[in-house]
Amino acid sequence: MTLVPGRACGGCTVCCTELHINAPSLKKLAGVRCPNLREDCLCAIYETRPQTCSDFECGWRVMAALGDHWRPDRAGIVLIPKTKDNPPGYRANSGVQIMLLGPGALDNAELPGLVAQWVEARVPLYLTVAAPVGFLAPSAFLNEIVADAVRRKDRGALTAVLEGTVKALSLRKLERAETAGLPPAST
Ligand code: SF4
Ligand code: SF4
Repeated sequence: MTLVPGRACGGCTVCCTELHINAPSLKKLAGVRCPNLREDCLCAIYETRPQTCSDFECGWRVMAALGDHWRPDRAGIVLIPKTKDNPPGYRANSGVQIMLLGPGALDNAELPGLVAQWVEARVPLYLTVAAPVGFLAPSAFLNEIVADAVRRKDRGALTAVLEGTVKALSLRKLERAETAGLPPAST
């Protein structure tokens, strides 16, 4: 992936905090701050960090069209590349998981347009809502859910469908995350 020139993580630590990591040398639950994350937001083991960390770039780092307000800690949304296990009929290795980190995330006025653009381009999309520590974040495959609103280019309907999907996800019974081998959770 090619990074947008000059776009640095700065004070954002979302991927080191909000994401689940299951590497041989580092296991942590989503929502738990990585023990290697320093107070200055840098990685204490940067040169030897797990490959899952060195391979990861969130969507904001690679999509030039997204403004600075899309930095995940500012937007409350982290765009996670999904390069495998996408359904047939969609781009095989260019999926995007849209993970909402908090209740205000859907206030982002640019999100519906972005979703519509991706749906039209057959990018597989997943809407995910961050869950409490110890539970798996519930997720929905978005393309079919929003297809009609996107086809009609009805921005209001699309926004309503996104809101309804978030509500449905928030009502879903949460599954516990696998915690075997993990250190005790502390946020
Ligand atoms: S979520 Fe993106 S911007 Fe934030 S620390 Fe991770 S890679 Fe950097
Ligand atoms: S090892 Fe470093 S890069 Fe990986 S999650 Fe921890 S602080 Fe972030």
